[in-house]
Amino acid sequence: MRIECASGDHADGSIRRAWAQRRLPAPLQGPVIVTRAVGFLLLVVLTNATLLLLLPFTATRFLVTAVLYAAGTAAMLVILFHPRNRWFLDPRTDVQSRGRPSVALTFDDGPSPDVTVRVLDILRQKNAKATFFVVGRQVERHPELARRAVAEGHVVANHTYSHPPLFCFLSPRRLREEIERTQDVIHGIAGVRPRHFRSPVGLRHPLLKEALERANLELVLWRLRTYDTWPTTRDQLHRRILGRVRPGAIVLLHDRPGPGTEAMVAALPDVIDALRHRGYELVTV
Ligand SMILES: [Zn+2]
Repeated sequence: MRIECASGDHADGSIRRAWAQRRLPAPLQGPVIVTRAVGFLLLVVLTNATLLLLLPFTATRFLVTAVLYAAGTAAMLVILFHPRNRWFLDPRTDVQSRGRPSVALTFDDGPSPDVTVRVLDILRQKNAKATFFVVGRQVERHPELARRAVAEGHVVANHTYSHPPLFCFLSPRRLREEIERTQDVIHGIAGVRPRHFRSPVGLRHPLLKEALERANLELVLWRLRTYDTWPTTRDQLHRRILGRVRPGAIVLLHDRPGPGTEAMVAALPDVIDALRHRGYELVTV
């Protein structure tokens, strides 16, 4: 979705209108969420209960238990992790293309002095806009980078306060705190109140929908994962992005230091050029 599309409608707090404009299925309603949360809890309990089948131990019982446990665990992982799974809430993974095909580059986990500065320099040089899903604690440590991103026309979005790895198991209070504290930090430092949220690793929390509605945030994940946090090379990353990009794709990148950082920074200018050469317009979420 183009920023003007998102911003105008979200200013009055109407996430639902944005949903309607995107012509996506209606957001999940309260009773549905409760039923699904109970369903998920049952899945957790039943998957763990299959371990009881191990006794008395036989080879057959072991095989049956292993299959059932693996199937239950796989289902849980899809519900909690998969970017397009809608069990708990409806994440957005694409931007709308108007006329020309669009693509949105997004950078997670910053700001960091090592990487964000270089990414911002490249974006400025290429006159390209991107979306930064920032960690509240990092914004407090490097306020000048959050201000610079906003001043240069990028969208700054909420990626929790402390990036908790077990996001899906946070207490309701801690969940709200992670989200709302980050809103306040970004607003206090950069002067903007984010309208988009991305959870760590895209994890869902059973109460996330309610927490996001309360903070007037939309869950935005990704269509194209680049694996730029893993060891990679500039050419591999370039091929991975250009080989899999489709119109409307939200692309997941990272501006925190990691094994793939140098490759990402080296590939970024060429990736931007190549996307434009193919007719893509770079937009924010
Ligand atoms: Zn992250």
